[in-house]
Amino acid sequence: MQQFAYERPSTLGDAMALLVAGGDAARPLSGGTDLIIRLRDRTIQADVVVDVKRVPELAPGIRRVGDRLVIGANTVMTDIAADETIRSRFTALAEAAIVVGSVQIRNRASLAGNICNASPAADTAPALLVFGAVVVVAGPEGVRRIPIDAWFVRSGVTTIGPGELVTAIELPLADGPVASTHVRRTRRRGHDLASVTLAVAVPKEGPVTLSYGSVGPRPWVVTDSSGILGDPASTVTARAVALDRLFSSASPSPTSMRASPEYRLAMLRVLGMRALETAHRRLGEAAA
Ligand SMILES: Cc1cc2nc3c(=O)[nH]c(=O)nc-3n(C[C@H](O)[C@H](O)[C@H](O)COP(=O)(O)OP(=O)(O)OC[C@H]3O[C@@H](n4cnc5c(N)ncnc54)[C@H](O)[C@@H]3O)c2cc1C
Repeated sequence: MQQFAYERPSTLGDAMALLVAGGDAARPLSGGTDLIIRLRDRTIQADVVVDVKRVPELAPGIRRVGDRLVIGANTVMTDIAADETIRSRFTALAEAAIVVGSVQIRNRASLAGNICNASPAADTAPALLVFGAVVVVAGPEGVRRIPIDAWFVRSGVTTIGPGELVTAIELPLADGPVASTHVRRTRRRGHDLASVTLAVAVPKEGPVTLSYGSVGPRPWVVTDSSGILGDPASTVTARAVALDRLFSSASPSPTSMRASPEYRLAMLRVLGMRALETAHRRLGEAAA
């Protein structure tokens, strides 16, 4: 393990000052399930590690504020998966959180860490994308609210700026019922990232939104304007054609050790079909 200074500020101002002073060589730490591994294998070099778990503005917690659900940056996967509002109204996010790593990992792994690490295979990313989440960041210039689709750039890169910290992730509460689900393929659960990860949200009225990851440099979100995917009676063939059109951004790496591009693309369609079926069934059950 490389040598670094460990700082544990208890105010947002002190945390930001440490990050600004450290520049590229300073890194925030939440659960450490990504960062510590990368410091150890030296894919990240840091002189200063700034533990943000004592910063009140980033505190764990899930609360309703007006028409939004606000999830504190340091909220861990275990708590996201157990939250009643997330389970009922943002089901895909609860399902994504519960498949991250193992029990031990989920007790440490924060939502902010998952999106800041910006792996194309990050399990919570597709769910956050289909729900139109907003990332709240605080920095030396003040607070910014970034739509999650504008957050991911490519593997390991987001639109966060120097000295900025994610303080919360917000989810807009929909007016009507929305059924959703998250599905994935992985080689070994608990030990490996997903080969394909996908979420779908089917509202009672309005277009279906789908998001998929681990098949390109970042997770993508798409909306079905054809109406086929929102129709519970549409045929398998029509759905397959509509899905293939929406998956046109998928460009899996030919050199990945996890799966071949052919396998990932085939699984993308299979998972898309299954996710749609599940979401339609849930919407039907909710209406019954
Ligand atoms: C064995 C194992 C299995 C795993 N399985 C999965 C899996 O199935 N699915 C999956 O998606 N991931 C998985 N992961 C990856 C990891 O657990 C998640 O990405 C986790 O959510 C990261 O959160 P953390 O709090 O541990 O982040 P940290 O490691 O503390 O930080 C991750 C990155 O985010 C930055 N950061 C942290 N907090 C903030 C903040 N508030 N503002 C700005 N930057 C911040 C850090 O500087 C770092 O770059 C696995 C990891 C391990 C070790």
